Amino acid sequence: MKLPKKIKLYCKHCGRHTEHTLKEFKRRQTRGLAWGERVKRKYKLKGYGANKIKAHKTTTVYKQNKKPTFLARCSVCGHYTYFVIDKRMKKVELVNV
Ligand SMILES: [Zn+2]
Repeated sequence: MKLPKKIKLYCKHCGRHTEHTLKEFKRRQTRGLAWGERVKRKYKLKGYGANKIKAHKTTTVYKQNKKPTFLARCSVCGHYTYFVIDKRMKKVELVNV
């Protein structure tokens, strides 16, 4: 699917529709000392309950495609909002129009 780089979206800081520029959203690396990560590591080391984590992983991995998400930047005030297409697809391109 091809999307234009600039689209009009509602900006809640400006209170009206303004032009937004789209940018691909990438997840940051998870923090190793965060609580969830520490628990995972503990379960891996000790071995107990490891089957639970494996089962959880298999249920989340079986879908191959992700819902494309973008960061949309308001051209007036510069605030970022998420722009999500609520449909799974293989490939999305941003195109200059
Ligand atoms: Zn704005």
